[in-house]
Order: sequence, then structure tokens, then C-alpha cells
Amino acid sequence: MARVCIVGAGFTGAVIGRELAEAGIPSLIVDERPHVAGNCHTERDAESGVMVHRYGPHIFHTDSERVWDYVRRFGTFEPYVNRVKTTVRGKVYSMPVNLHTINQFFDKAMSPDEARAFVASKSRTDIEDPQTFEEQAMKFVGEELYEAFFAGYTRKQWGMEPSMLPASILKRLPLRFNYDDNYFNHRFQGMPRDGYTPIVAAILDHPLIELRTGCRHEDLTEDFEHLFYSGPIDRYFHYDLGRLSYRTLDFEMIRATGDYQGTAVMNYPDSDVPFTRIAEHKHFAPWEAGRLEKTVAFREYSRACGPDDIPYYPINLVGGMDLLKAYQERAAQEKQVTFAGRLGTYQYLDMDVTIDRALDAAAAYLQQRVA
Ligand code: FAD
Ligand code: UDP
Repeated sequence: MARVCIVGAGFTGAVIGRELAEAGIPSLIVDERPHVAGNCHTERDAESGVMVHRYGPHIFHTDSERVWDYVRRFGTFEPYVNRVKTTVRGKVYSMPVNLHTINQFFDKAMSPDEARAFVASKSRTDIEDPQTFEEQAMKFVGEELYEAFFAGYTRKQWGMEPSMLPASILKRLPLRFNYDDNYFNHRFQGMPRDGYTPIVAAILDHPLIELRTGCRHEDLTEDFEHLFYSGPIDRYFHYDLGRLSYRTLDFEMIRATGDYQGTAVMNYPDSDVPFTRIAEHKHFAPWEAGRLEKTVAFREYSRACGPDDIPYYPINLVGGMDLLKAYQERAAQEKQVTFAGRLGTYQYLDMDVTIDRALDAAAAYLQQRVA
């Protein structure tokens, strides 16, 4: 039987390969990196013993029972609630913006209803249907909270004015008028006890899957009955219409003993601080953090992605982008290719959505193959 080729051994490629394998279809999965799990790759830091998220902190959260059941087939998840702090003008607040943040920032002791009315009095009621990040912020939190918590962070993270970015980016974050400081609204949340990489390795562990790491798609010479491509869509077309814009990240490592910052994630929205956040990874594993004497943290700097950098974040602009549309039109003509994942579809997808879409992509292929 002819094989299917899958480019990328992140969650997208692994889940698609597994679904096809369970339906009896063999695949070759290639990834140019020396490891599986894509950007979700984790490994133990030899010096400190801390489980490090190599490409930035990853917290698993979802509302989908299908996805939550799926990942727990392949590994154990420990309970974990993401609680982020943020340092603004020399003071520490709680993120996402909640009643504690509002009361501390405005130096008040308001009840939920009082705070709701207070924030509403500061919001821009003339904005009916916010399209941009800035409009969304001005409508829901008003100028002071926007300037303190969002404007500077967003300029650093995306390298452009929040008025050019879509409202959907801010809609990722809750705004609460109670003291709930959970960063996510989803029903299910957790951290893989042994990191993400063993989970992806377990998904890939099937006799009908051949995995080749350290292998670029461009270097393959075999023929395949279909290709699933989770690399960057513009790369597939050899960038011949031009390069799509991505943000890349630089991580600056900090080694220390004990506890460096007392929490997993500290954001830094102030514009005079060059990084966006510091993540101290032992706090992502509270069940083992107390046993570790040493610690490791990373300052995260965002910048425009060059040709030799890792593309992390696709940049979506308000109103869409002609270059992306042009690549998408060409992608639609490639009948033997399915573009998938954060890079293949050029979308800001969390892990749970990535897995959900990969399950759907595999199901669609299987259905079409039978028809
Ligand atoms: P990737 O993980 O990027 O995998 C694609 C793989 O394809 C890569 O390994 C790459 O090497 C390979 N590849 C590409 N082109 C080629 C080629 N031509 N030949 C061979 N191999 C190729 N999600 C959450 O749910 N929670 C979080 O807390 C969270 N935090 C994040 C933090 C950061 C800093 C970033 C950038 C993302 C975060 N995400 C988070 C999103 C998460 O990383 C993605 O949802 C997930 O990685 C998408 O998986 P993927 O398989 O589509 O892509
Ligand atoms: N954001 C912000 N201030 C913060 C945290 C986030 O302005 O303290 C904005 C920023 O534009 C970011 C977006 O909200 O890109 C989504 O935040 P999230 O924490 O989901 O970003 P990610 O973890 O995906 O980088």
C-alpha cells in the first residue's frame, strides 16, 4: 500500500499519523529537528533537573472533552492552574485583569458590581463592534488599564501598533469582576507529568508509523499517495510569492538557586523593559519543584523572524493579508496536499485546537479516501 507523508512531528503531524495508522494507513513522518513534539518539546535541564519547555512555556487547557480524553490516553496530566503575575511601573498585579487587579491598580476596595460599573464608566461606549486589539481593549477595559497592562506588552510581542492587530488576540484573555485569577476559562487544564515530548512520542509509537527526525521534507525523493504539511505554508511554495511575516523569540537563560521569582510567569508590559515575560519552569511542575535546589528561568524577547530563525507566531493583521490569501489560493489547488497546524494554516492555534483540527483533518482524509 502506498504511504502517506507527514511533514512535522509536532502535535499536528503526530495526531494525523496516529489516526491514519489506526485506520490501517502507513505513513512516513519527517521533522528537520532532532526531536519530536515541535514547539511543545520539553526536556530535563541537566544542571538543575528542571523540566524545561525549550520553545517557551506551554500550559494545556481545553473545553473539548474529545481532546482532553485524547491526550490523556498517551500520558498522565497533573492538575495545574495557570496564574500569571505582571509587573507594571514597579508594582506587581494579577493577570488576567480581575477584581484584585482592578482594586489594586485604582487603589480601591470595590465589590464586583461596583468594579463593573467603574470599569464601564471608563470604557469607550461609542465602539460598537471592535475590530482591532486597541478597540477591543478600549471598549472593555478603558484607556488606563489598556495602557498599563496591554499596549506596551502587545507592541513588544507583535512589533506593531495594537490598532493594526485583530481583536481576536485580546479575546484570548478573560476579564473578570471577581477574584478568580485563572488565566484560562476552560474546563480542563493540566501539565503532563513527564513533559510533552513523551506524550507526542507515545502518539507516534505505532508499527505503521515510520519517524525520521533530522530530515527535511525538501530532501525526500519518494512518492506518496498524500502529503500532510504542518510546516510554514510559504516555505512549501519556496517563498516564491514572498515571505509571510512571523515573530520569533529569543530566550535568555537565568540560572539561580532556590526560587528566582516565586511564580511560573511574570509579565513585563512596561515599554522600557525589552522583554515581554520571564518564565521560571520549575513552577510549571509544582509536584516536584520543592525537591529541586536549583532553578532556571528565561527572559523572552520577541522580534521579527528572519530567514534562519524559527517561526513562532504567525502575524494576522486586521482585514487579512493579500500574500496569505494568495498562498491559500495556491494551497487549495494542491489536491494531494493537506495544510495543517499553526504554520501550515498560518493561524494562532493553541495545542488543544491543533489536536482537534488534526483529528478532523485525518477524519476528512479517511472519509474522502473511502468515497
Ligand atoms: P509545531 O509544533 O510548530 O510543529 C511543526 C514541526 O514541523 C516543527 O517541529 C518543524 O521542525 C517541522 N517542520 C517544518 N517545516 C519542515 C520541513 N520542511 N521539513 C521537516 N520538518 C519541518 N499552546 C497552548 O495550548 N498552551 C500554551 O501555553 C502555549 N504556549 C505557547 C507558547 C509559545 C511561545 C508558542 C510559540 C506557542 C504556544 N502554544 C501554546 C501553541 C503551541 O505551540 C502550538 O499549538 C503547537 O506547537 C502547534 O503544533 P504543530 O504541530 O502544528 O506545529
Ligand atoms: N497580552 C498583553 N499583556 C499581557 C498578556 C498578554 O497585552 O500581560 C496580549 C498580547 O498581545 C498577547 C495576547 O494578549 O499576544 C495573548 O496573550 P497570551 O498570554 O495568550 O499569549 P501567548 O501565551 O500565546 O504568547
